[in-house]
Amino acid sequence: MRSACVPQPVPDPRLAAVSCDAFALIGVVDATLDDEALRDVTAGAVLPVGSSPCALGYAGHQFGSYVAQLGDGRACLLGDVGAEADQSDGLRWEIQLKGSGPTAYSRGFDGRAVLRSSVREYLASEAMAGLGIATTRALSLVVSPLNVYREDVEPAAVLMRMARSHIRFGSFQYLAQFGGAGARADLECLAESVIERSMDHLDSGDYGGLLACCVERTAALLAAWQCEGFAHGVMNTDNMSIDGDTIDYGPYAFIDTFDPTFTPNTTDVGGRYAFGRQPSVALWNLGRLAEALVPILDREQAQAAVDRYAEQFNDAFSARMRRKLGLDDAEPSDEELITDLLATLASGRGDYAAFFRRLCDYDPSDASSRTTLCATLADPRLLDSWLARYDDRLTREGARERSARMRRANPLYVLKNWVAQYAIERVEAGDDAELERLRVAFSDPYCAYDGLERFSVLADRPHSDTKLGCSS
Ligand code: AMP
Ligand code: MG
Repeated sequence: MRSACVPQPVPDPRLAAVSCDAFALIGVVDATLDDEALRDVTAGAVLPVGSSPCALGYAGHQFGSYVAQLGDGRACLLGDVGAEADQSDGLRWEIQLKGSGPTAYSRGFDGRAVLRSSVREYLASEAMAGLGIATTRALSLVVSPLNVYREDVEPAAVLMRMARSHIRFGSFQYLAQFGGAGARADLECLAESVIERSMDHLDSGDYGGLLACCVERTAALLAAWQCEGFAHGVMNTDNMSIDGDTIDYGPYAFIDTFDPTFTPNTTDVGGRYAFGRQPSVALWNLGRLAEALVPILDREQAQAAVDRYAEQFNDAFSARMRRKLGLDDAEPSDEELITDLLATLASGRGDYAAFFRRLCDYDPSDASSRTTLCATLADPRLLDSWLARYDDRLTREGARERSARMRRANPLYVLKNWVAQYAIERVEAGDDAELERLRVAFSDPYCAYDGLERFSVLADRPHSDTKLGCSS
């Protein structure tokens, strides 16, 4: 369902950031902060030619409870653009403004986004892309002195983002709830648009293929989140993309220590969306999507697609973990090696990202590299038995290339909450340069950048495992 909307521009807009990497994907190579025409479009003051803006309605399970009517309460879909001309994949991107004022789905809220959450989404989208994780992309960030009332009064911002589509599990749930032939026709229509936009390897009418593709992409996404320590925070079915992209960055966090119970969202008191529960939550959410598809899909076929999730998740998780560990060919004992490492890291309370980055330089024949690695854990001896097995395993891997390969699998820069907070404070102070420097680093977080040493995972910093509330 969609409803027309009109973006409400923010007063005194300042174009604070543009992601040239994201703009390049739609063939724009000259986006700059002093471009007034670009500022006006990204602030919602001027509509791009041919745009008929609208907001999308959807439903969703929020913390387990079904909400029949949700929607883009503060996002406005401007339209579609093609991919860069010389790309032949025919991919089209949907462009959205977030924070551009109320829509038919605002439910009495203001339709605005605060600067704080917008900087966080801007950086996280680009950081996830840098890690090779499927995500919506951030094109630009406009900030404004407009007062937005949350717990405190905060400045407003408008984010321009894009995705293959903004269709969520909840978009299907919304249509399914009406039942009958009408719901079936609407579901088919939505499924066809998903196949056309982002699953064009499928034939029209192959809704079993659609669900199977979504299950597989979601399994791969969750595997990547778990390997990189990303806690989403609000995995409601309306925040799950049918395309398998990370969408709706709220109180997310990259973990400091490896702690499966870590819950980044302070309002999630039951820990429903705790870091370690994410893979099973995704499976539960896929079950809700499958139910919504039953009017257009055989129930057994739907169940069979969902049943493949666990294996697909495990395969993707092991493959990414092996890359992080520098293990080229899979061996049967790798699963246990990975599981035991995670248990050791959990009890050792070492910094997750620092451990893996140090592991890149670990050389079993060099005692000092071992000391440095073990020092990432509270008790260095905890690693002894695991390292004995890892050393043995490494005898079957080439040492030199291993190190270089691992440095491309274990980031030197991770978007911890304190880094995002630093960027927020700089932008609030009118200094946008740091945001761009950080975006560049996160766009390829595997190599070192001059002047950014203090943001690296190897810099000394007390752990905080900061949590945030949902308000944004
Ligand atoms: P979220 O928790 O960000 O996924 O948001 C849940 C729902 O609330 C979505 O339908 C949002 O569009 C809506 N929403 C969140 N913040 C606002 C706001 N400031 N104004 C209007 N709708 C909002
Ligand atoms: Mg949402």
